[in-house]
Amino acid sequence: MPDLKLDAVEFLHVKRRLPHPFTISVGSIAAREFLVMRGHADGLTVYGEANVDAQPFYTSETIGTVWQIASQCLLPKILGKTFESIAQVRATWAGVRGHEFAKAAIEHLFWDLLGKQTGRSLQSLLGREKTEIEIGTSHSIVSNLQGLLDEIGAVQEEGIRRVKIKIQPGWDSEPLHAIRREYSALTLLADANGAYDLSHRAQLKNLDQFGMAMIEQPLTAGDIVDHAELRRKIKTPICLDESAHDFHTVQSALKIGACDIINIKVGRVGGLSESLKIHDLCHAQNVPVWCGRRTGSGITIASELALSSLPGFSFPTDHAIDFLQEPLDHFVEREQFVRRGAFVEVPQKPGIGVQVNEKMLEKLTLHREKFAAK
Ligand SMILES: [Mg+2]
Repeated sequence: MPDLKLDAVEFLHVKRRLPHPFTISVGSIAAREFLVMRGHADGLTVYGEANVDAQPFYTSETIGTVWQIASQCLLPKILGKTFESIAQVRATWAGVRGHEFAKAAIEHLFWDLLGKQTGRSLQSLLGREKTEIEIGTSHSIVSNLQGLLDEIGAVQEEGIRRVKIKIQPGWDSEPLHAIRREYSALTLLADANGAYDLSHRAQLKNLDQFGMAMIEQPLTAGDIVDHAELRRKIKTPICLDESAHDFHTVQSALKIGACDIINIKVGRVGGLSESLKIHDLCHAQNVPVWCGRRTGSGITIASELALSSLPGFSFPTDHAIDFLQEPLDHFVEREQFVRRGAFVEVPQKPGIGVQVNEKMLEKLTLHREKFAAK
């Protein structure tokens, strides 16, 4: 049994520029702020990341809430203490409700530690062998349809076979129609981030004509009941993202027939252990899952590639943009990932399997705090 013990953890509030502003139905961002955790354990440095925003934009958690809950409620129970398993670490948080991104980031420190102590890759710890993951793209809402078509043409040239566009009322059938006309062979997905309600039934039914692989989170974040009703009325498979916030909710969603596919975001569901549980539940019921991207760093990309090698991940990730666009401000250099067309190799070195450029990480850090075992 490994002895898992963290002596200290630093929180780093990081800000990196994005190559282009990214717009979804609930807003737009031009730079990305998030929280990196750097743990120290007996000469090893390990990493975790909370892909939340400075504002409650995608999720109710923010950099501020993660900082507070992780430092005041989660870390005091684990710093300087020895654990035999990650399940034991998680058990110390049994009395802390919610705050999944905070839990996921700290749990990730332990996954990285377990890998580095035992010389095993994260993928091998998760128990899977698929060595390459197919990546797809996710395209922002834009004001210029031709610009979107050109962008999709360019990624198709790079070998990408699956694209997702962000949609909202007023920006749905027109771009989808244009993409279908120009690029009929592409697997097409749309993500509404909760922009519609049941009064849009007819518009959503109208999208069936585009033969999409899924429509993601068409209705309000958190809802499953209306999704179950909508699912009976449209042919396009429904994927839950913002509503699939933990194992129990996914179980309920499957029970009432609210969806055909689940998007597992590691941070949103509370970490890799919870992601594994949701994957296994869905896989047992033949419900495909996939791993949606939240912009962060290569720390997240590396662990999501490992997770995506599980057998139930039918549409593995939409990380393609991280590999195809000119990266700005990256502290995990892209050269560490091997891409061939639409496929990226799962890192095989111990732990997360990629190196962090500490100099660049320091440069992007707005402020920091260190917490040590007392
Ligand atoms: Mg989504």
